[in-house]
Amino acid sequence: MRYFEYSQTLMGTKVSLQLIEKNDLAAKIIFGSIKMLEDKLTVNREISEVMSINKAAGKHPVGVSPFVFTLIEQAKAISIAKNSCFNVAIGALVKLWKIGFQNGNVPADEQIQYCLLLTNPHLIRLDKQKYTVFLEKTGMEIDLGAIAKGYIADAIKKLLLAQQVNTAIINLGGNVLTVGDSPLSADGYWKIGLQKPFAKSSQPIVVIKIKNKSVVTSGIYERFFIEANQHYHHILDPKTGYPLDNELQSVSVISHSSMQGDIYSTHLYGLGIEKSISYLQETPSLAALFVTKDKKIIVVNIDSSLIQLINKEYVITNHSFG
Ligand code: ADP
Ligand code: MG
Repeated sequence: MRYFEYSQTLMGTKVSLQLIEKNDLAAKIIFGSIKMLEDKLTVNREISEVMSINKAAGKHPVGVSPFVFTLIEQAKAISIAKNSCFNVAIGALVKLWKIGFQNGNVPADEQIQYCLLLTNPHLIRLDKQKYTVFLEKTGMEIDLGAIAKGYIADAIKKLLLAQQVNTAIINLGGNVLTVGDSPLSADGYWKIGLQKPFAKSSQPIVVIKIKNKSVVTSGIYERFFIEANQHYHHILDPKTGYPLDNELQSVSVISHSSMQGDIYSTHLYGLGIEKSISYLQETPSLAALFVTKDKKIIVVNIDSSLIQLINKEYVITNHSFG
């Protein structure tokens, strides 16, 4: 059995779509839609709907597409939740650090403290009647980098189903979403390999079996820079303005909605192991897999029969509360 793989570089990453039947038209529609969504959501170019909001910060509200509005509304709700490590208003800090771009550098502490004052998510004013977004303070910036890929993955799934494509796997660089049953296994499960952090070539350390679900990974090994022997990665602590510092190398969240997975992979990364485990104990519908710097894999709310260790340098422990 072979797949038909279609791929393009979009959103700064390789986006691939695997289908079991050749379907150039579906692929064309999918990639066209991703481009359209990216064009509205990006903050890495001068012009987009989100850039219009950011440029009007402190000045006036900006009307946006209903889906952009809803996405910001959901992102704001998560951002203002108590002890959230996810903050959609973190844009000014992301731009300051430039992590993941060629000129990433450690900013002066005064600059970080100044930008922190521009990241209060309560100051995102939303008008549901007019579909407008207003950032109340000049210099504030919205950044949807930690949620957009998840949203787009879910949108692609709907588009595929609308075209009667009922079996597919979508990979948006770290966001994997499966549609239907895998034709490759008798039980219909898809096998998703999680890569060894910092490895140069493809080296899965563990394989997760999923069906009709998404696996989203947030890690510190893809977008980072090193300065004076210090490793600075792209997930920032909304409280301190510096990269989140803990025992984790990555967090993968397994969920129905890829957008939820994207939000929670960032949030749980920020919580660290101990707090994440308590959080997941109270949220049995959410499953996650953590990889620590000292080669431990901690699996929470996933049946152990769905996890297979590949790299024996790692040790797995499983917590099941569901
Ligand atoms: P990935 O880019 O690997 O998918 P994430 O989903 O965690 O990882 O998103 C990280 C991106 O989100 C950053 O590149 C930045 O644009 C933005 N970001 C950084 N820190 C935060 C945070 N604490 N909350 C929300 N967004 C963040
Ligand atoms: Mg995320």
